[in-house]
Amino acid sequence: MTAVQSSAEDRGGELARRPRPRARLGRPSLLVIYVPAIVAVHLGLTVVGLLTTAPRADDVTAFAALLACGAVCIEATRRLGMPAGVARDLLSAWWLPVALLLPPVYALLIPVPIQALLQFRVRRTMIYRRVLVAGAFGIAGACASIVFHLVVPEPLEGAPRWVVDAYPGIPAAVGCATLFTVVNTAIVAVAAHAANPESRWRDVLWNRESLLLDVVELCVGSLVAITSALSLGLLALALPPVVLLQRSLMHQQLQAAARTDAKTGLLNATAWQREADTELSRAQRTNGAVALLLIDIDHFKRVNDTHGHLMGDQVLVGVASTLGHQLRDYDVVGRFGGEEFVVLLPGADTVEACRVAERLRGRVRRLAVPAEEGTVTVTVSVGVALFRTHGDDLLELLTAADLALYRAKSSGRDRVCLPALEGPATPTP
Ligand code: GH3
Ligand code: MG
Ligand code: MG
Repeated sequence: MTAVQSSAEDRGGELARRPRPRARLGRPSLLVIYVPAIVAVHLGLTVVGLLTTAPRADDVTAFAALLACGAVCIEATRRLGMPAGVARDLLSAWWLPVALLLPPVYALLIPVPIQALLQFRVRRTMIYRRVLVAGAFGIAGACASIVFHLVVPEPLEGAPRWVVDAYPGIPAAVGCATLFTVVNTAIVAVAAHAANPESRWRDVLWNRESLLLDVVELCVGSLVAITSALSLGLLALALPPVVLLQRSLMHQQLQAAARTDAKTGLLNATAWQREADTELSRAQRTNGAVALLLIDIDHFKRVNDTHGHLMGDQVLVGVASTLGHQLRDYDVVGRFGGEEFVVLLPGADTVEACRVAERLRGRVRRLAVPAEEGTVTVTVSVGVALFRTHGDDLLELLTAADLALYRAKSSGRDRVCLPALEGPATPTP
């Protein structure tokens, strides 16, 4: 995919982890209007493009060759698997040349077979998500294509002048590839934010890792566009390195996915323990403070019993995202299992740990997850344990935090407690 496609797929991954709009949003939501609006714009532009573009054999051949390269890329990495959250790829390498070399209608068309191939050959996901991603790529590709053809008229006419005379063709190609990424990212980010209004715009729009991948895709896509403008036959030379790059990118994402809890996006228990152990070793060396919080949702079984398991999952996602947003980058937060979360706070003493735990408790209390009728709210109980005071290794700390959590539960829930000796950290709410 182009720089744009991968970023949309990536952010689409966030969408996939979100509940279905219908299930989550019993009331009319922005997403229910937004997705059909994007589909309508994509469809409308495609119809206009088909009516106003005379088919040329050269264009159709180039389109088929680039689509075939995309299909080979998908097939070559298919067996690696693509679980939810593993969504970045280099299909933009074939996508971008379509936008730059061919009339805009081809940029509107290419996402459709590519998304269909991903859906049926790689991973079945919610259709609304595929349709939205195809619409975002199509609209973004058409924008890039229209601007490029205005700046560099008829790039395929005769010799590929825009490649030979480096100005304005190549800067325009890079500029339009960037435009493609920006438009696509914006379309998908609005959907991701509508699916989860609690999320911060910064998180759905941008992160350092996805920006780096956007730049890589943009470079690869531009190089393939320049190569195929010189001769379509050169695609045979571009295909193997792009497939290899794509495979290593997928492999890296699979490794990252193995650390992550698929439901909440937090660290899974194994990865959390590994990272927490590393933090404790550091604190041991530097004589630093560390606190551990064990957080358990109160009466969560009732949420499942009253609203169903799917709604329970949505509450888990909401609580996880609330915890994640309230913590610093270097705090280690994971899902320990079921409805239990665990946080390691490097540098935190008793006062700081209880302050953070109180803040988390308060934020979760205020969380209102939309349900079919009204909203669902939950509370959490938090057990706090301090390195050296309550335990000298991770196991001892976890045991102490578990004891503290037990105290919080047995003294009424919705509170923060330390292990026995210090008494409750906060008064009963
Ligand atoms: P307490 O206040 O004592 O913690 O009560 P509780 O109901 O939260 O605790 P209990 O251990 O009785 O029940 C936990 C429930 O969490 C039972 C289980 O079905 C549910 N659960 C665990 N994992 C998941 C999950 O991934 N999704 C959903 N929806 N429910 C889950
Ligand atoms: Mg519970
Ligand atoms: Mg529990």
